Amino acid sequence: MFGSVLIANRGEIARRILRTARRLGVRTIAVYSDADAGLPFVREADEAVRIGPAPARESYLDTHRLLDAARRTGAEAIHPGYGFLSENADFAEAVAAAGLVWIGAPPAAIRAMGLKDAAKRLMTEAGVPVTPGYLGDDQSLKRLEAEANAIGYPVLIKAVAGGGGKGMRRVEGAAAFGDALQSCRREAKAAFGDDRVLLEKYIEAPRHIEVQVFGDAHGRVVHLFERDCSLQRRHQKVIEEAPAPGVDEETRAALCAMAVKAAQAVNYVGAGTIEFIADARGGVRADRIWFMEMNTRLQVEHPVTEAITGLDLVEWQMRVAAGEPLPLVQNEIRRNGWAMEARLYAENPSAGFLPSTGRLDHLVLPSNARVDSGVEQGDEISPYYDPMIAKIAVHAPSRTAAARRLAEACAAVEIWPVKTNAAFLARAAAHEDFAAGRIDTGFIAGHDDLIPAAEPSGPVLQLAARALLPSDADDPWRALSGFRIAAPRETRVVVEVDGLSHVVELNSERPRGAIRDVHGERIVFLDGEAWHVNAPRAEGAGGTSAGEDGTLAAPMPGRILSVAVKQGDRVERGQALLVLEAMKMEHSLVAPFAGVVAELRAETGAQVSEGTELVRIAGEE
Ligand code: ADP
Ligand code: ADP
Ligand code: MG
Repeated sequence: MFGSVLIANRGEIARRILRTARRLGVRTIAVYSDADAGLPFVREADEAVRIGPAPARESYLDTHRLLDAARRTGAEAIHPGYGFLSENADFAEAVAAAGLVWIGAPPAAIRAMGLKDAAKRLMTEAGVPVTPGYLGDDQSLKRLEAEANAIGYPVLIKAVAGGGGKGMRRVEGAAAFGDALQSCRREAKAAFGDDRVLLEKYIEAPRHIEVQVFGDAHGRVVHLFERDCSLQRRHQKVIEEAPAPGVDEETRAALCAMAVKAAQAVNYVGAGTIEFIADARGGVRADRIWFMEMNTRLQVEHPVTEAITGLDLVEWQMRVAAGEPLPLVQNEIRRNGWAMEARLYAENPSAGFLPSTGRLDHLVLPSNARVDSGVEQGDEISPYYDPMIAKIAVHAPSRTAAARRLAEACAAVEIWPVKTNAAFLARAAAHEDFAAGRIDTGFIAGHDDLIPAAEPSGPVLQLAARALLPSDADDPWRALSGFRIAAPRETRVVVEVDGLSHVVELNSERPRGAIRDVHGERIVFLDGEAWHVNAPRAEGAGGTSAGEDGTLAAPMPGRILSVAVKQGDRVERGQALLVLEAMKMEHSLVAPFAGVVAELRAETGAQVSEGTELVRIAGEE
């Protein structure tokens, strides 16, 4: 085994690799961009080298700077993680040419599998079934249209150089083909510098099932069973599990054998994944599964395979790269139980999954799950890289138990003020259709009930009301930490939640969730959601300022996101008038009393400075 490794990546995967390297006694070298200087992976490595400014092109994707860092620190090996340069054959070659060990796939295998059309041709030759479609060099509109007709709609246009769910268009019929092709080409050219496409039959009720494979330099290839990654949004994985539900042993054996054959066809060495697409109408059957692509690297979702096999895939990668034989032969690799993983993202499901950036002022990740995260409380989610905050993985004896644990783990997430998909993940894992294994890649798009409501539920209001009650003689506005139950002296509480007033009748139930003090702001967390709580404005608190004459001004500089009223409208006390986005947060301005919108100077999209008068409500006599 080599004595040191440079990790040419960042965040959670850099930390993941560090963990194994340290356990194996290998010295670790991190590289980081200016945006990441304060992150845990930089501190935790034995050595860390700054490689450039925030943009990935000038840091994590800069071959020259990476090799220079390796030379200066005397690194003996390079692990590329996933994403970035992990599937870049030129980089793999440059690493080897510099006399370093490349902990990745052989450059020839990366090239063979790098373009989707060439890979599919190769697989056909090797006898692995591929998704029916057109892989030809003739890229004229006329030819592609004719091929699409021959395949039969719906068809999928795919960029041959595509990845990460980009450069794909589903087309329903001939009339839409030309436009879809054009926009797919545009996207492919911008993202991959290559606008060539292939066509595939769009598989109905598709399930994404993939097989983890491993090869060594001694010509052996094994599989580590399959994963199901059908829960996707826009062709990107959201929840993954192993094994795949509804797959019997015979089908599993056939699928895994196909994957081993595919890997052998490219003399594969290291960790790789063969992705298949299955037509799951009427169950998963071996004759309705087709090769889709190979990812010649470690996969984001490798923890579920680690959970069911009890193996450390990064350790295997390092051993194989060092020239050792695979640690186990096929029949020594066993699986046990069920594992699930969810990708926790900084995004807002209620606002079309808009990415959310900013500082993680409050961050509690579940303690009853495996958590792979690149950040800690106080760190930033920067706009430069993937907005993944953490991967949450669970392992249980059965699928039912695993789903329950995953739902609980996601519901226990507390993050503020960055918006996350935690509640969405918890809902997906707890959904009855998911529990029943009724999944395909359309699951998320087809279930509106996974998106959390914008209004606080009854239990949230109970929690919010209790957050305002004095729990003891101390100043109730301070020293709030953790779960707290007040013996309610009042039964009726007026509380402002996310800027809107509510009158809450306290009930006697013990509320679930948590009440936290985050830099003086009171936040309640329930089922993965976060709500901002204020005492009612009349008592002087709150983020919006209403003058006695009913004039509402912007409490801070920001942008007007939406205006819900027009001049002359009659409004109730507490009714939302407009939403202002400031400091990465949305603030509702609400009517201080019932009346009529006498003046309105707010326009959607407008930037306003602090104190700008936006609305005046005239009270009713
Ligand atoms: P997978 O099939 O493992 O989900 P994809 O082919 O979708 O992988 O994409 C590669 C992975 O690399 C993504 O899941 C993404 O999280 C990661 N990735 C892509 N770009 C970046 C980046 N700039 N920073 C960190 N991770 C990235
Ligand atoms: P990428 O390189 O972006 O990961 P893939 O070819 O692996 O591209 O496809 C990504 C996702 O798109 C798959 O996981 C699947 O959900 C969907 N998909 C791909 N091909 C098909 C197809 N022929 N029919 C239906 N869905 C497909
Ligand atoms: Mg893929």
